Amino acid sequence: MTALTVAEDVHTEIGEWEGRGWFPPGPQLAICLSGGLDGLSDTGLLEVAAAARRQTSWAQARELAAVAELSRRRAADEAEGDPDYRILSGYESVVEEVAAALTVTGDAAATLVHLAGRLADDLPATREALETGRIDLSKTRVISDLTDGLPDGLPERVEAAVLERAPDQTTGQLRRRIRRIVQKLAPEQLEERKREAARRRDLQVWDTPDGTTDLTLTGLETTEAHAIFNKISAVARALKTDGDLRPLHAIRADLAKELLQGTSYPEAAHASGVQPVEPPRVPAVTPSTVALPDTTIVETLAKMADQRLSKVLAHARATGRTNALPFLINRAVRDMHDQLRGLRETWCQATGPTPGRHGHNAYRPPAAMRRLIEARHETCVFPTCNRRSNRCDLDHTVPWGQGITCQCNLAPLCRRHHRTKQSPGWTLIQPWPGLLIWITPSGLWHITAREEDRTGFWR
Ligand SMILES: [Zn+2]
Ligand SMILES: [Zn+2]
Repeated sequence: MTALTVAEDVHTEIGEWEGRGWFPPGPQLAICLSGGLDGLSDTGLLEVAAAARRQTSWAQARELAAVAELSRRRAADEAEGDPDYRILSGYESVVEEVAAALTVTGDAAATLVHLAGRLADDLPATREALETGRIDLSKTRVISDLTDGLPDGLPERVEAAVLERAPDQTTGQLRRRIRRIVQKLAPEQLEERKREAARRRDLQVWDTPDGTTDLTLTGLETTEAHAIFNKISAVARALKTDGDLRPLHAIRADLAKELLQGTSYPEAAHASGVQPVEPPRVPAVTPSTVALPDTTIVETLAKMADQRLSKVLAHARATGRTNALPFLINRAVRDMHDQLRGLRETWCQATGPTPGRHGHNAYRPPAAMRRLIEARHETCVFPTCNRRSNRCDLDHTVPWGQGITCQCNLAPLCRRHHRTKQSPGWTLIQPWPGLLIWITPSGLWHITAREEDRTGFWR
């Protein structure tokens, strides 16, 4: 198909976009993207947004490739002893040239030149993933940052391990996964990195566009920082319980401010006119000795579910029934949930924290069950959420009463995604313990499977 006929299609028949969601980035996709949006369905609009992002990735890969090529030329000139480089090194020259050409600060240009070099020299597969629109620039930066300084050959091994799933992961999920891999491959490197960050610890102050100022402590020891945060939060919550009308975050900020100015804890709390309270001890959470559920079953079922729903989607498109998609996908997932009932109950009875029982006799799950659910999902089960599960509520996927308190009907949800679940058009179904399927108002779905890869699939 020539570019011209594509352009005509787009401008005359906007509905033609449907089914082009898969187009690889490049000149042809640019033409498709320049069509109007009015005639598109909801899924069509989301596809256009996703395609535009792929196109952006492609353009950013071109930008970085151009910068890398310029760096290569300057480095070659310098190596040949070009007298122009006696004052400014080849690298410095490129940074200045890029800063001027792109109208960015010297720091931003240096970051760009560095990233371009990493993609050209150490991370060829990541560069290709960006160019083909499978990952965006933020994910590219995460991969580059976390593999920087690793011994030769390791960055390639890390990218090979993470790129397949990276398209379905947020930057937070990707970062956690890379950390786990680097921890295995080069633990001493991670330690050195941490020591280096600690050496650069600082107290920084930034004026914000709102006219306020942020004050940030950086490079702290993790346990220490959490201990400080928990301690201040505990006092703030106590003040709140005693009738303080400020929101919790505001109390936290005010307390921290008082403390940093040298006020002691009881006085800092007293400044709000409320009796000081001894901060409760937060019990240490030992990351579970609980056995994780068999992840192979979950993965297999996740793939099966995705295939089945993809067929429903393809069929709906082929028969022009995309408007019925939310209904069709919901029905398919509910069918699956029902079909697995017998197996699920047997499995629960054999593996649950209460042996021989599928379900616990009360609304609140017992501690062992809570630990199992939190170990199964480290974070809120909404696909893009990074809220730690021990700071989430354990939500009954099917509400308590109709649904039971059991590993097959509980999952961590933060407040915000609890609301999402209850919003019109959204559905969450757990066909197997730990396997959660989200259905969006436009009839797309996301499968959240096990923690290790936490990606599931967006469709
Ligand atoms: Zn169960
Ligand atoms: Zn959440």
